[in-house]
Amino acid sequence: MHISRSPAILRSLTRKNLLWDIPDRPGEIFVTFDDGPVPEITPRVLEILKEYDAKATFFCVGDNIAKHPEVYQQILDAGHATGNHTFHHLNGWKSRHEDYLADIEKCSEVVNSRLFRPPYGRIRPTFIKFISNDYRIVMWSVLTGDYDKELTPANVLKNATDHTTDGSIVVFHDSLKAADNMLYALPEFLDHFSRKGYRFSSIPEGV
Ligand SMILES: [Zn+2]
Repeated sequence: MHISRSPAILRSLTRKNLLWDIPDRPGEIFVTFDDGPVPEITPRVLEILKEYDAKATFFCVGDNIAKHPEVYQQILDAGHATGNHTFHHLNGWKSRHEDYLADIEKCSEVVNSRLFRPPYGRIRPTFIKFISNDYRIVMWSVLTGDYDKELTPANVLKNATDHTTDGSIVVFHDSLKAADNMLYALPEFLDHFSRKGYRFSSIPEGV
């Protein structure tokens, strides 16, 4: 079964240190993209966002920025926010504290942002406290499942639209793996909520 909402218990336990949604921003939706920048995909995402006058937040893998700095620059030039997604897309449950921290810091050399999203959403509770002074840890309220090969593009769109509401933080991926689902669902999603009068905003660093 695909779980598109984060577990309620985890959300309430950690609400203080983890950002799951921004409920005090009615009429706004916070679309995010993980795992880029990728030259085959990210520029297409930027075009789609522009069509809907949408601003988003890109949680970038440092290694991808090092390989494709010009694509990263396109994200910044278009006025979107960026966040740290580690340099090597490390799994926080499998990494030693010092290795994980070093990888975040290596990513921070190319991403000038205090927003951080742990790859796979996996971060140890002790580590949350450890980095909370320096980073705002951004989770999500809606996982579209665009990377899931068992879901069709229509499934992904339905997932995204059914669960999104005021202040939702929604996860898509600007990756090759998610491209088929994401490139179908994203414009439909933006169209659906634009018609309802929603705006699409970047996550503010001070939130
Ligand atoms: Zn990721």
